[in-house]
Amino acid sequence: MAGSCPRLQEAQRLAVCGISRLTLAQETQEPSESGPERCMGLGARSWLPAAEQLLPLVDYFMGEYCQALQTRERERAGRSPSGSRKLGPSGSWESSANVDDGLVSAEELALAALGVLHLLVSHSYAAVTRILSDDSSGGPTHSGDSGHVRESGAAVSPAGATETPLSVHTQRCLFSKLLQLADSLVVSASYRRETLINQSLRVLGKLAKNATAELLSRFQVLLRGSALRRCLSADAPCSTVHLAVQLLASVVYRQELLSQLCSQSDLCLFLHLYTYVSTRPDTSATDRLWLQLEQEVVRFLTSICLSHSGAVAVLLEADCQCSTEVLKALIVMMHRRWLTQREPRRGCCVVTEQQGVTFIRETLLLLHRLSQRDKHFTEHCVQVLHQHSQALHGIRHILQQIPDLEESEELALEDLCPHEEQDVEAGRP
Ligand SMILES: [Zn+2]
Repeated sequence: MAGSCPRLQEAQRLAVCGISRLTLAQETQEPSESGPERCMGLGARSWLPAAEQLLPLVDYFMGEYCQALQTRERERAGRSPSGSRKLGPSGSWESSANVDDGLVSAEELALAALGVLHLLVSHSYAAVTRILSDDSSGGPTHSGDSGHVRESGAAVSPAGATETPLSVHTQRCLFSKLLQLADSLVVSASYRRETLINQSLRVLGKLAKNATAELLSRFQVLLRGSALRRCLSADAPCSTVHLAVQLLASVVYRQELLSQLCSQSDLCLFLHLYTYVSTRPDTSATDRLWLQLEQEVVRFLTSICLSHSGAVAVLLEADCQCSTEVLKALIVMMHRRWLTQREPRRGCCVVTEQQGVTFIRETLLLLHRLSQRDKHFTEHCVQVLHQHSQALHGIRHILQQIPDLEESEELALEDLCPHEEQDVEAGRP
């Protein structure tokens, strides 16, 4: 720690300098000749180069936390060189109080650093560019790493293989630290794991949103690794999945990144996402939170369909289970929402109810778009055919009460559930 003090002092000096520059009114008037050709989320006046000067300090505290996690990991594994472990009352090895204290304080500082970083990447294109361009300490050719490590230190190991050790990450660039702190495996010793992962995903999402198409390629490492899959696993909180979907929605702007979402195996990210929203494993999440996630998923998939010609094929024509699971997930979500909408509204606010109707309308249009493309639609939906017919029957009743119903929605309803079928369906849950 003592050895890193000069580095901290230098980072602090730079940060103070950066803050002073940021407070100057003329800061926003600085020329941005070397600015981006296309910046997705930020305006031309958001170059803000002074923001870069705060990055070393943010990087320092995130690095310190990664190191504290590494120390804790060694303690757990019983490899502490200090020999300070002792056997606790429960018979398990206790880590030293020093390690715990160090981890708690480093965690607080890392969370504060992530908060500052979110602000920086939200408002400064210079900061976004610096973070995504900086691979000086973590390029693909970096030697001396574990065989599983590629660009930026992220793990790209096959399923079940040992993950990248923390010792590698602590020496890497800010982007790589960010990826690590979004990984539940790396931060398993954290005291505020969910907050830490969510805050890291929030920053990554903002980075992706404000990146140029060229800079977005840095996110390949995230799609190839297993951290994002863990964010979509059954034990992930609903809020984490929501942030992961928002991140994905910005990343798949690039066509080659979109194609990486499906790995044509049980590691497929689409498959994880569909399973999550179909099964709703987070029992502590409120209905409102679920609705927000499900709406995000439907909008994410719709944006993929609309992104370019042929994009629907990524969803429907891959040689992967995800190509049929997408239809099932949409039908299950729509059916479940219809059941919720028709139940007596006890304590449900009008906003949530309206949001539920919006969700149903958007899901209907997406399902119709996919059904037009899928020649074996009925066959692919056979496991959820009952929910499909029942939900559409009920939805027709809901939509009939909407004065501004679009022609495309009427067409979708008629195509997916022709009138003659209405007489057959009983409409029971
Ligand atoms: Zn797939």
